[in-house]
Formats: sequence, C-alpha cells, structure tokens
Amino acid sequence: MATFFWSLRNRDYDRWQAAGRAAWIDEVAALWPETVPFAEIAEPVHARYRHHTRKPTLGRRVIRIGDAWHATSPQLGQGANMALLDAASLALALQRSETVELAFAAHLRQRQMHIRLYQTLSLVLTPFYQSDSLVLPSLRDFAIGPATRLPLVRQIVSRLVTGEFLDPVGRIGFNQVLPRADA
Ligand SMILES: Cc1cc2nc3c(=O)[nH]c(=O)nc-3n(C[C@H](O)[C@H](O)[C@H](O)COP(=O)(O)OP(=O)(O)OC[C@H]3O[C@@H](n4cnc5c(N)ncnc54)[C@H](O)[C@@H]3O)c2cc1C
Repeated sequence: MATFFWSLRNRDYDRWQAAGRAAWIDEVAALWPETVPFAEIAEPVHARYRHHTRKPTLGRRVIRIGDAWHATSPQLGQGANMALLDAASLALALQRSETVELAFAAHLRQRQMHIRLYQTLSLVLTPFYQSDSLVLPSLRDFAIGPATRLPLVRQIVSRLVTGEFLDPVGRIGFNQVLPRADA
C-alpha cells in the first residue's frame, strides 16, 4: 500500500478535474516519470485543509480539542497525534481535578505550549513543501535535506517529526498511567 499525494490550490481543483486523468498523468510524468505506474492506479480523493488556531474554550463546560482547536497543513504529519494527545490530556485532567473548570485549566496548561510550538513550526515549514516559491523548495532540497543527515540535526529532526519535542506525553502525565513493563 502507498499513499500518493498531489497538491493543488483549491481554486485550481475544477480546472484540474476538467482537464482529465490523461492530462494529470502527463504532468506526473514530466515531474517524476518513475511514479507514473502509481499515479495510473491511484484513486484520488480531494481533501481540503487549512491552518487555524481557535479559542479552545467555548463556555464553562464546552471545549474544543483536535482539529477543531488547532488545524494545520499535514506536512508535519502530527494532526492525529495532537488530537489524541488532547483527548488523553483532557481525560486525565478530568480524572485528577475536583471540578470541570479546574480540569480545563490543567488540560490547557498541559497542552498549550506543545500546540503553540507545532502550530508555529507547521506555519513556518509548510511553504518549504507547498508554495509557489522557487527559492524555498530549492533550499529544502539542496541545503536543509543534506543537513538533516548530520548526526545531531538528524536527532532533532527525528524528535520533531515524531511530535516528541517538549515531551508531550510526560507533560500530560500519561507516562504515569501506562502499565510498567514488568507489571
Ligand atoms: C490530506 C491529509 C493528510 C493528513 N495526514 C496526516 C498524517 O500523515 N498524520 C497525522 O497525524 N495527521 C494527518 N492529517 C491530519 C489528521 O487527519 C487530523 O489532524 C485529525 O484527523 C484530527 O482529528 P480530529 O478528531 O480532531 O478531527 P476529525 O478526524 O476531522 O474528526 C472529526 C469528526 O467529527 C465528525 N463531525 C463533524 N461535524 C459533526 C457533527 N455536527 N456531528 C457529528 N459529527 C461531526 C466528522 O465527520 C469527523 O468524523 C492529515 C490531514 C489531511 C487532510
């Protein structure tokens, strides 16, 4: 199984669809001929996304988590992780707090910094992968790409793309409820 991503601006979608499959395959062939066999069997699904950070609390007892709170482009591949961390954080905060209000406050303390960091990183890094710029993708391929193979940089990038920066699991206290390996 493989996933084949093809990025379009929303405003270009109708034009892309009207041009037809053969025209798309020609475009793929011009960019990367080896991937044509994958494009030929792909079953494209149109997924829209955008970047937003909303106010998490909507009232005394209503709170947004996951994409409803903070959506990003999928370039860092962290949206599902973030949503699961929010859910775990909120559940643990509710278990550990006397009132819903205190639980919300604890949950936001646990999650806000991690979310701010990844929202910022996503905003800054997305144009390197999706934009009309000619400079940023070249920088990515010829400078940043090779740099990420250096030992320390590689470690940092690995932590970044696995969502582990700022220890989100420890921050919500989830590691305290995980069963011990010897138990
Ligand atoms: C193209 C693409 C690629 C992605 N790739 C990755 C990736 O590689 N890794 C990663 O971690 N994340 C990725 N993401 C992001 C990830 O999919 C989201 O961040 C994640 O699904 C957010 O989870 P959520 O539960 O907050 O929201 P959602 O998954 O959107 O769940 C919300 C649910 O609520 C339902 N709903 C909406 N309104 C109502 C209503 N009124 N009543 C009842 N139900 C309702 C919706 O149908 C939906 O099922 C990608 C996203 C896109 C678009």
